[in-house]
Amino acid sequence: MKVRVDMTMCEDHGQCAIAAPDVFRMNDESKLEYDPNPDDSLLAEVEEAADVCPAQAIFIED
Ligand code: SF4
Repeated sequence: MKVRVDMTMCEDHGQCAIAAPDVFRMNDESKLEYDPNPDDSLLAEVEEAADVCPAQAIFIED
């Protein structure tokens, strides 16, 4: 699947990194980094991350 985060909307809260740590993480500067092409087996995790993102900034494109 393809994952896109609109970085103009992302507020670096980090909830996505808790919901889907295999795909999203906060770097040393507390900025979001993510894998834009995660394995399809991680879909449920990514959907959960998209659900909990307070900025609704995560988009799944398959
Ligand atoms: S939960 Fe949403 S706003 Fe927070 S870091 Fe992740 S993408 Fe950005």
